[in-house]
This record gives sequence, C-alpha cells and structure tokens, in this order.
Amino acid sequence: MDVIERYLDELLVANETTNLTRIVSRESAEVLHIEDSLSGLKYVNEAPEGPYADLGTGGGFPGVPLAVKTGRETLLVDSVKKKTAIIQDIVDKLGIANVSTYAGRIEDLAREMPERFAVLTARALSSLPSLMELASPLLFEGGLLVCYKSHLSDEERDHALSLQDKLGLDLIHDDTFMLSDGETTRRMFVMKKFKQPDVKLPRKTGMAQKRPLK
Ligand code: SAH
Repeated sequence: MDVIERYLDELLVANETTNLTRIVSRESAEVLHIEDSLSGLKYVNEAPEGPYADLGTGGGFPGVPLAVKTGRETLLVDSVKKKTAIIQDIVDKLGIANVSTYAGRIEDLAREMPERFAVLTARALSSLPSLMELASPLLFEGGLLVCYKSHLSDEERDHALSLQDKLGLDLIHDDTFMLSDGETTRRMFVMKKFKQPDVKLPRKTGMAQKRPLK
C-alpha cells in the first residue's frame, strides 16, 4: 500500500483516542484529506527549491501527502503538542524521512527560522490577512504561500489584496475547482513573496489572528 494511504490508516486509528480530525470515514477522508491535499501539488511545485512548512497542520494535512509527493524537506507546524507528537510517531513508524514536526506557534517559528522557507501551505487555519502576516516572515524572497480556502468572501479577498504591499506578498493564482465527490469546492489562493514587508514581523504572538492588520 502507498505510504500516504498507510499514513491515513494510522491517523484514523490514533483519532479514535485523540481528536486529530473530524473526518472519520475512510471514504470521505480519501477525498477530503488525500485528494484535497494533493490538489495543491502543482502550486507547491512552482515554488523555488528549498524547505516546505505546513502551518497549522492538525492531523498532517495537507503537509504529509505533499511531503511524500514532493520529497521536500518538510516541517509540520502546530501549537498543540499532542497532535505533533502523534504525527511524528506515525511518520517515524512509516519511515517518511523528510518530515519533521514543530510543536509551537507559527510566530515563534518565524523568530527561530526567519526567511527559511521556499513554500508554505495552510488549510483551515485563519483568514487570508492573518495567513499572509504569519507567512511573510517565514518565506525567503520568491517563496510561495499556498492557501487552501473554501468559501472566500469578496470582503476577505479585498482585505488580503489591500495588504499585498505592506506584507510583501503578491497574488499569483486564485483558482476554484471541485473535488471528485462533486460537492466540495476548493479555492486556491497563492501568493509570492516579492519583497520585504513594510512592517516588522512577527508582531506580538496572537496579534496576526486576533487583530489582523488593516
Ligand atoms: N490543516 C489541518 C488542520 C486545521 S485546524 C486540516 O486542514 O485538516 C487548525 C490547526 O492550526 C489546529 O490544529 C491549531 O492547533 C493550529 N493553529 C492555529 N493557530 C496556530 C498558530 N498561531 N500557530 C501554530 N498552530 C496554530
């Protein structure tokens, strides 16, 4: 069996005792975790060579499938240690050697590893303005932020676009498509770091999500 399928099996078993994902049926997990995660592959592959991080990885999506397919050095980031510990165990057990985990806040990672990453992903984490602020200090110039959105209001989109210059991130793709279940719409919002942000980042921990920049 494919290593991604094995990862999903192990995760669903672990999920019986620890809350890692709401999606518990194998059938819907195939689409909503594996297929959906890999729908970002072509965007991740557009990024320059270099390390990849999945921000707010939860149960390891989209990070684990993308790590397996790209072979990039991958860091799965989540502030909940219980989650990263379980993911690390499964990844070690399956011998997925290019993946490691970071138990901590994205803002702290940015302080420890500024401008280290070529590409970042985020699914079901925060609004676009918050994601942009969290991501910008982690990316080197030319690096990409791949946001997996579902419903995106015009207001959220416009707010994100208004912050492009301040945060040094430019929109390069805004694509909408349907997954194979015929009912899940995915919207990919992809930005490229084109310059240093105008503000000093990260701000105080929590601010990016609690009080997004105007
Ligand atoms: N990406 C996964 C999980 C989404 S839930 C999926 O799509 O299935 C969002 C996750 O982000 C949670 O596990 C939460 O602990 C984590 N998170 C939220 N804000 C964070 C922050 N500032 N730093 C690190 N992790 C964060």
